[in-house]
Amino acid sequence: NTFKYFSRAMHERVQYDMQITQELQKAIEKNQMSVHFQPQLRSHKDRLVGFEALLRWSHPHLGQVKPEDFIPIAETNGLICEIGDWCLKQALSQANVWNERLPSHEKVTIAVNVSSLQFNQSNFAEHIIAIVKDSGLPLQLLELEITESVIMDNISTAADILHELHDSGLKISIDDFGTGYSSLSYLKYLPLDTLKIDRSFVKDLVADKNDRSIVKTIISMAHNLNLNVVAEGVEDIEQWNMLLSFSCDLIQGYYFSRPVPFNEVAELLYKNRNPEIQAIS
Ligand code: C2E
Ligand code: CA
Ligand code: CA
Repeated sequence: NTFKYFSRAMHERVQYDMQITQELQKAIEKNQMSVHFQPQLRSHKDRLVGFEALLRWSHPHLGQVKPEDFIPIAETNGLICEIGDWCLKQALSQANVWNERLPSHEKVTIAVNVSSLQFNQSNFAEHIIAIVKDSGLPLQLLELEITESVIMDNISTAADILHELHDSGLKISIDDFGTGYSSLSYLKYLPLDTLKIDRSFVKDLVADKNDRSIVKTIISMAHNLNLNVVAEGVEDIEQWNMLLSFSCDLIQGYYFSRPVPFNEVAELLYKNRNPEIQAIS
């Protein structure tokens, strides 16, 4: 008892998605994927302390395909597991390159996104730990970003997996915090290290009293639970200053830098750490 209208836009969308599905199979072997890195800064010192690894797909005809367009498709057809492993290995080996040149107390961390399908693979924890050990990067320098919904899908299995990962030394971060599940009780018994406040709260932080209260409350709750807080999507100095006044630990966003390709990272790091660190090239 209903009508559904078919539109040209729908048709084009379906065709585009079909094309992405086909092309995605070959994207890695054809060398079309790369990883970009977005700096994370300690808010009170403007000091670059880590990066988030973000996938980029450059297709010869489709151009730059957005992660929002290809990741959901890779999650549907299972390719995200292969792509996710590839991204992790790239991020680890590149983090090794920067860290080799930094003194031990100056090492940078690397955060990698984990999709629900990856997390729910059997032996996910063993698999990830083996890849990190193989890379030679100290385990405590890798942070896995997982969304609340992935954890809440099956909280008891998720708790076991997170404990195994955390016991090995890896760090766990809750991505897009505040947008997913409404229960907070999981925060007290899961082995977590970081909450990432979603960009949607940071966006109107300065103008919107309610967003300000939410952000302030998340930060103070996280600190009471001994968790670090990263604010993402920081685009201007007013947002940064406000987050700083709320004692937010780390800042990530276009204000300092967009995600950059591997070959631009060294310069960013060098400029930020200079003059203490001389030998990065
Ligand atoms: P995310 O994990 O929430 O990543 C943050 C997104 O916000 C990135 O978009 C980043 O470029 C963007 N961003 C950072 N700072 C700002 C800012 O100041 N303003 C604005 N407007 N945006 C900012 P990107 O790279 O397009 O990635 C989108 C999403 O795709 C990611 O959201 C993540 O969910 C997913 N994704 C990206 N790479 C991977 C990956 O390797 N594996 C998985 N599973 N998902 C990934
Ligand atoms: Ca993320
Ligand atoms: Ca996020």
